[in-house]
Amino acid sequence: MRLLIFGPPGAGKGTVAKEVTAAEGLPHISTGDMLRAAVAAGSELGAKVKGVMEAGGLVSDELIIDVVEDRLQQGDTAGGWLLDGFPRTLPQAEALDALLQKLAQRVDLVIVIEVADATIVDRLAGRRVCLACGATYHATFSPTKAEGVCDACGEAKVVQREDDKPDTVLSRLATYHEKTKPLIEYYERQGLTQSFDNSGAPAATVAAVRAALAAR
Ligand code: ADP
Ligand code: ZN
Repeated sequence: MRLLIFGPPGAGKGTVAKEVTAAEGLPHISTGDMLRAAVAAGSELGAKVKGVMEAGGLVSDELIIDVVEDRLQQGDTAGGWLLDGFPRTLPQAEALDALLQKLAQRVDLVIVIEVADATIVDRLAGRRVCLACGATYHATFSPTKAEGVCDACGEAKVVQREDDKPDTVLSRLATYHEKTKPLIEYYERQGLTQSFDNSGAPAATVAAVRAALAAR
């Protein structure tokens, strides 16, 4: 099974990807994770991408395509994979097509995770993080016992992240919709997309994705 996954920030794409791959026994190939690992390891690739990533920009198509081409030719990918974070541009989608054609493989399903923008704003607006130890909370769903004080480490450093504030979230969502739309359309034209609503519990979404895979 060869899968792609798209979804806006805050929609729970990472959770769904992790659980689907664990259940199906597929490698979860996340380009973001691979690049972060390269930066952490101080590799040649890491040195090339560090600046762009820190500035919140996209790594060049050429570079990321090389990384993915290498990865998809490693032994553990023979039985399939789930690609998370790639493709992000049309040239990347075309390069993936060309590579798969060369390998006599094809994408089986493009999973599109959907959650209403307003719901994402509510979720992220409630998210709180401890600056001291990294523990996360939710103002409504899992609040700290004492306002602003971390249950885990006791420091009064539980705050809202700047990029979780509603205005910033809305602009991140607008960017996602604008950038991802042409890609989703590219796969829609090939009849490969299926949308899954993740407004509720991720477990239900994972079950729906697995049912869709079983039906193919
Ligand atoms: P996000 O923080 O948007 O969830 P990821 O964790 O998928 O993003 O990726 C983190 C960073 O890695 C991106 O901001 C970008 O700089 C780089 N990156 C990951 N995948 C790609 C890609 N397919 N094309 C270009 N850059 C990428
Ligand atoms: Zn803490």
